[in-house]
Amino acid sequence: MNRALWVAAGSVVVGIIVFTLKGAAWWVTGSVALLSDALESIINIAASLAALVALRISAQPADDNHPYGHHKAEYFSAVLEGVLILLAAGSILREAYFGFLDPRMPDQPFHGILLNGLATVLNAVWCSVLLRYGRRWRSPALVADGRHLLTDVVTSIGVLVGFVLVPLVGWPQLDPLIAGLVAINILWTGWSLMRESVGGLMDEAPPANVVARIKELVSTHAAGAIEAHDLRTRHAGRMTFVEFHLVVPGEMTVAAAHDICDRIEQAFEADMEDMVITIHVEPEGEAKHRGVVVL
Ligand code: ZN
Ligand code: ZN
Repeated sequence: MNRALWVAAGSVVVGIIVFTLKGAAWWVTGSVALLSDALESIINIAASLAALVALRISAQPADDNHPYGHHKAEYFSAVLEGVLILLAAGSILREAYFGFLDPRMPDQPFHGILLNGLATVLNAVWCSVLLRYGRRWRSPALVADGRHLLTDVVTSIGVLVGFVLVPLVGWPQLDPLIAGLVAINILWTGWSLMRESVGGLMDEAPPANVVARIKELVSTHAAGAIEAHDLRTRHAGRMTFVEFHLVVPGEMTVAAAHDICDRIEQAFEADMEDMVITIHVEPEGEAKHRGVVVL
């Protein structure tokens, strides 16, 4: 988990460099669109700091106070980031509105393009790093951070295109107009990000292919048992929690039933990582004949 902490700390550093470059681009040009872009990256720094704190918390082992571990802390950071994206979009729309009412041609457009372009390239590189490692380590906080950066890159490309077009078409309203369009795109990303994190907080079931794999593992490694039912699964960050009832013949010894449970647990450990399994053993009178039939 230390590696994830390093990546999150890197996000904060990249965020500060990008903000400085984008702020300078706004400073030399006075463009509303470039100001909005810089504004978005302040929120990016705040969100990366939040992700860093969440990762530190979720890396702590389970304790008496939090016996299931601290993995859900990552969802809080992802939800917070969604809220920050909504705030950024709101303030960009506000700036675009005032810029539209009082339009002006940007100064030193070439310097603005160079500074903002440099920040955008840096963001794009870091974004691909975040998404790759976030998915590999199944960390919603890092993936959320990466998606946020992706909207940042899209924002900057939109802003730069508009910025190049403003002097070409000689229409200063284009600058705030493009800022407004980009804000709507940011709103959309923020919304889908929050929906995903709320799913995690609400113990949404894992994807169908994961559930199918779990059922397959139980049915092939529970020889001696009769059936498994009431299977429930949920995710918390990179952890998957699995619980089910295992029906065995009533006269089977506790030791023999426990052997079956150990075998199933070993099969899960070999096949899927970061998993906690709880098995409730029942005598055959409890069979419902509607769960996972043991092969
Ligand atoms: Zn049962
Ligand atoms: Zn045991």
